[in-house]
Amino acid sequence: EYGFFNGEFITLDTAKVQLEDRGYQFGDGIYEATRVYNGKCFALERHLARCRRSLRELRIPITYMDEELTAIHYDLIQKSGIQNGVIYFQITRATAPRTHYFPDQVIPNLSMTIRESEPNRKWQEDGIACMLAEDIRWLRCDIKSLNLLGNVLAKQAAHEKGLQGAIQFRKDTDLITEGSSSNFFIVKDGLIWTHPTDNLILKGVTRSILLEEVIPQLGYTVVEKAFTPEFALSAAEAFVTSTSLEVTPVVNIDGHTIGNGTPGKITQSLLQGYRELVQKECYN
Ligand code: PLP
Repeated sequence: EYGFFNGEFITLDTAKVQLEDRGYQFGDGIYEATRVYNGKCFALERHLARCRRSLRELRIPITYMDEELTAIHYDLIQKSGIQNGVIYFQITRATAPRTHYFPDQVIPNLSMTIRESEPNRKWQEDGIACMLAEDIRWLRCDIKSLNLLGNVLAKQAAHEKGLQGAIQFRKDTDLITEGSSSNFFIVKDGLIWTHPTDNLILKGVTRSILLEEVIPQLGYTVVEKAFTPEFALSAAEAFVTSTSLEVTPVVNIDGHTIGNGTPGKITQSLLQGYRELVQKECYN
C-alpha cells in the first residue's frame, strides 16, 4: 500500500489529509482508477483523457500533464512492487479557507494510491445477482467527481441484501442508467443494449473499449438507447462493465432470473475479447 501526495511518495500509514482540502470538505474534485496487469497500466491514455475532461467540466486548472501522471503511475508500480492491482488518483481543486465559490490563485492537489487486486474470476464465471435501486444522483453523472453518495447508498442497499450489485434507474422516466460503479448492458434478440452517453451516466473506459474495439471485431450490434427495468428483466443476457469488474455477467435482478440464470454466450465472448486486448497490451 503505497501512495503519492503533491510530489512525494509516501506509505499510506504516514499520509496526512489536509483539513481544508476542498475534496475533503466539498467533494470538489475528480478521480480515476486504472487497473495494473503484469506491471503495466491498461488503457491509461483513455483514463487520462477522461480525467482532463472531468477537470475541464468542473473548471479545475490542469496542472499535471499526461506524461507526468503516467510517470507517477509507473513509479508507484515500481516502488510498491505490485504487479496486479488498481491505481487510484484524485485531483481536488485546492486547499483553501472554506467558502463555496472557487478560491483565487490556487494549485490543485494530486493524491494517488496503489493496491494489490485481481478481477473477481468467480463472479465472471458464475455471474452476479443485483437489485434495482432508484438513481438519486445529480444530473452530471458524466463527470467522474468525488461525490459518490448516491452510488454508495445504492451499493450498500445491495450489500445489505446479500447481493453483489445495484442497477440504478431514474424514477421520473423509469429508465435504467447504470450500475453503482459500472455500466450496464443487456442482450435481447441478439442485440446489445446500453444507455447512451449523456449526462446521466459515466462514459466508462471499459464500455468505450467494448463499443469501439471488442464488439465491432466480434460482429455484434449495439443499440445505445435507454430501456426500462421491465425490458431488462426479459433480456436473454445482462452484464456490467468497469475497470475492476472487466465484463461481469448479471444472472439475477431483483430475484428475477436473467435468461437461464447462467452467463450468456455473447457476454462470455465479450469478456474473452476484452481479456485478449489486456493480454495484447500488458503481457507482450
Ligand atoms: N459508472 C460509474 C458510476 C462508475 O463509477 C464506473 C467506474 O468506477 C463506471 C461506470 C465504469 O467506468 P470504467 O469502465 O471507466 O471503470
